[in-house]
Amino acid sequence: MNQTAMAENKAITISFPEELSEVQEMVRACIQCGTCSGSCPNEFAMDFTPRRLWRMVLMGQKDDIFKSKTFSLCSSCYYCTLRCPRGLPLTEAMAALKQIAAKDGLSKYKQSSLFYKSFLESVRRHGKVREMEFMTMYFTAMKSPFLPFRFAALGMRLMGKGKVHIQIPSKGEGKLKAIFRKVEEMEGR
Ligand code: SF4
Ligand code: SF4
Repeated sequence: MNQTAMAENKAITISFPEELSEVQEMVRACIQCGTCSGSCPNEFAMDFTPRRLWRMVLMGQKDDIFKSKTFSLCSSCYYCTLRCPRGLPLTEAMAALKQIAAKDGLSKYKQSSLFYKSFLESVRRHGKVREMEFMTMYFTAMKSPFLPFRFAALGMRLMGKGKVHIQIPSKGEGKLKAIFRKVEEMEGR
C-alpha cells in the first residue's frame, strides 16, 4: 500500500465528538425513506447518497463520514429539508459536518475549506466577490504552483465573455465587516 493510500485509510481523529453528537440529534428521527437523496441535485456526484450519509451519522461511522465528499458537495439548496417527511434540518446538518471538517483541518476537506474562506474574505472586503482576487487568494492558500494552470483556460473564456475583470487586489472598505464579526461571535469563534 502506498503512502497516499495509507493516509486515506488512517483513522480520522475528530476533536469535536460532541459536535458529531449534535448532528446525530438533528437526524435522529430519520426513517431512511430516501426522499432527501431523490431530491438532491448534487447526488449524482456524491460518493454516498444523503440518505446513506444520515445512516452513517446515526451509526457514528466518523471515519467513513469524513472520508466521504458527500457533505462538501452540498450546495445548501434546501430541497431535502423542504421535502423530508420528518421535517429534519438536513441542510443545517450538512453545514455542521462542513464546520467540523473545517475546524479539524481534515486534509480531504482542505481544498473546499480554503475555497470557501477565500470567497468569503473577498466578500468581507468588498461586499461582493471579486473573482480575480478571490482566485488569487485561493491559489496562494493552496500553495500549489500548478493549480492556476488548471483554471487558466476557464479564466480566459470568462474574461473573453466579460464575466471576469482584471482588478487590482485591495483590502477594500470592509463593507460587511460588522456582519462577519457578529456571525463569528454567534458561532463562538
Ligand atoms: S428524507 Fe428525511 S426521513 Fe427520509 S431518508 Fe432523508 S433524512 Fe431520512
Ligand atoms: S441542501 Fe444539500 S444535500 Fe440537501 S438537496 Fe440541497 S444540495 Fe442536496
